[in-house]
Amino acid sequence: MSSALESPISEIRLAPGLWLEDDWYALKWRDGGTLAIGEPAYHQCNWSYLISDGDESLLWDTGSGRRPIATVVSRHGRRKVTAFPSHMHYDHLGGVRDFGPVMLADLACLRALEKHGRVTPPEELYLGAYENLTAPRFEVGFWQRPGETFTIGARRFELLHTPGHSPDSVALWEPGRVRLYAADFIYPGEVYAQIPGASLPAYARSLRQLLALLPRDVEILCAHGQERAGMHDMPALGHADLEDLLHAVEALLAEAPHDGARRVNAEMELLYSAAAITQG
Ligand SMILES: [Zn+2]
Repeated sequence: MSSALESPISEIRLAPGLWLEDDWYALKWRDGGTLAIGEPAYHQCNWSYLISDGDESLLWDTGSGRRPIATVVSRHGRRKVTAFPSHMHYDHLGGVRDFGPVMLADLACLRALEKHGRVTPPEELYLGAYENLTAPRFEVGFWQRPGETFTIGARRFELLHTPGHSPDSVALWEPGRVRLYAADFIYPGEVYAQIPGASLPAYARSLRQLLALLPRDVEILCAHGQERAGMHDMPALGHADLEDLLHAVEALLAEAPHDGARRVNAEMELLYSAAAITQG
């Protein structure tokens, strides 16, 4: 294992209520059917979510792949587990091949990749070269249309297309628990809009769409976290953070294209490129 990508697990401290499994995964029950699965020793501090009801579980993102997430899921998931990657970046597809046919957003840019029921993301969506990774080929069992609802047991979700961080980013909106699973669209720490495929005009459109849809008390669960007061916890943001991010994006769109980083609020710093400012 490359030490640059991982911290020794012995140096990781978890917030109260979290526990460690397999010397890698930090777990936290958000509620009886929602398990947050973190990788605090991985340098990107990924968080996936196991969403369960009745006989069914949905695994929202499949982790960095540096340890098998399927082992954790087999301990805590229900009889039927479906994985759903929020976008094609390598750090969300790590364990994707361990879950059989996955659910994927029915977007033209993803549909175009399908061959004989399987998808291999191209490098411009996968970005695995950052960590010397080759894109997996995996089976797609169901194409879920953005704007439409689906259920896990009795829990109802609406899939939202939220481009900005990447063109294929989607989020899950659960009205019943007033919760958005935002993946990489918004998260505490350095928000990546400096990478290939990122677009600030798309970010602005997605943010306005979310602000029009979501109630003020929405809880936003994110796919990356960071240490806070020396401890790791499930990353959560709120409605005001969407507003702050929109203000930062709008300010940048009014400026001449340039590379940089801008403080959004106490939680976030937005990294951006000139290309992301001009990319429609
Ligand atoms: Zn990403």
